[in-house]
Amino acid sequence: MKAFIILVGTELLNGMTVDTNSLFMAEELNKYGIEICSKITVGDNIEEIIKAIEFGKSQSDLVIMSGGLGPTMDDLTKEAIARYLGKKLVVDPEEYKELKEKFKKIGIELLDNNVKEVEKPEGAVSFRNGAGMAPGIYIDGVAAFPGVPRELHNLFPKFLDYYAKKNNLKDEIYIKDIIVWGIPESHLETKIKHFFDQKDIFYEFLVKDYGIVVRLQAKESSKNLVEKIIEKIYNEIGHYVIGEDGKRIQDSVVSHLKTLDYNISLAESCTGGQIASMLVEVSGVSKVFFEGIVCYSNDSKVKRLGVSPETLKVHGAVSHETAKEMLDGLEGDVVIATTGIAGPDGGTEDKPVGTVYIGVRIFDEYYIKKYEFKGNRERIRRYSSMTALFKLLKMLEKRVEY
Ligand code: AMP
Ligand code: MG
Repeated sequence: MKAFIILVGTELLNGMTVDTNSLFMAEELNKYGIEICSKITVGDNIEEIIKAIEFGKSQSDLVIMSGGLGPTMDDLTKEAIARYLGKKLVVDPEEYKELKEKFKKIGIELLDNNVKEVEKPEGAVSFRNGAGMAPGIYIDGVAAFPGVPRELHNLFPKFLDYYAKKNNLKDEIYIKDIIVWGIPESHLETKIKHFFDQKDIFYEFLVKDYGIVVRLQAKESSKNLVEKIIEKIYNEIGHYVIGEDGKRIQDSVVSHLKTLDYNISLAESCTGGQIASMLVEVSGVSKVFFEGIVCYSNDSKVKRLGVSPETLKVHGAVSHETAKEMLDGLEGDVVIATTGIAGPDGGTEDKPVGTVYIGVRIFDEYYIKKYEFKGNRERIRRYSSMTALFKLLKMLEKRVEY
């Protein structure tokens, strides 16, 4: 089964918006073993959209479109589908009624052009939009969804469920992701590649800014086989694992903090609040996150954390001693401190750009280490945050296991 994706929107062509919808759709299609043969981006131009549908239909079993379902003049997707199929656009009175109710609920006056949002080619099936106005539609091998990502995320799984049932797509794909940090990709592969000797299991390594994802993909019927390999991977490189599937390092850290009933505080210099921001991505973190201090200046380190001016003078802000005093100045069961030179300026021969001291303390168990990260400012800051959380995670894991 092959799918062809058409992304509609001039903003995707002129660089105003980055396409993320097709990534989401790819992940979802994957689960049903539907392969994406191609994807194409077209502007808000009806002739171009029709040409794209014609081409997509000639290449695949299923054409999936995103964008151009709104109420304005440049929203042309449904008109293009109707013209392609030689059907007229109709409005289902029930759907129009529901649209009116949605507008009333949010207190916005419904204008004449809003009716466009519920227009569809005659005979199309609709999928209820739980995150916005325009429903998704499907007709004769063509599906269309709004471009707003949160609406697409709401609608696309509903459509796929319908489509899979209709086409008896039972052989769902089983995907397992293991997220790893702290080991280079080549080393990781060398350590685990001999486990990937089953030809029915597809595996790959994906380098992301939140870690390296080791992905195993197989038919649902081979799930047990995948689980066995996962166990072997854990035995070999379990130390580097920071999460699974959608679970990122911050989710793992917060989950352990909750289990242990520890709270956490942060003193961030070179990471400038990035660790706090990562933690706050986890819902329910308020139960364990006491405070985060962005102590960027020396004065702040002295005033907020009680780092001694003498230490700063003798050893510098980027030093083992300062990191230690930053840790001690924080209140919390678990504390993290980062101080370093993110660059591109500020490096010296002694302390080149990328020199970062990372401190983690759980009660009176201290870990303070000097790192020399490579790369630009963004990478150095990212690596500092990730490494601090990684170290903390490993220290917490030990306590959870006992
Ligand atoms: P539309 O359904 O065409 O009205 O799209 C509404 C908004 O969704 C656009 O202004 C974009 O900001 C966003 N959008 C459209 N297509 C995509 C896409 N492929 N990926 C991410 N965002 C998109
Ligand atoms: Mg648009």
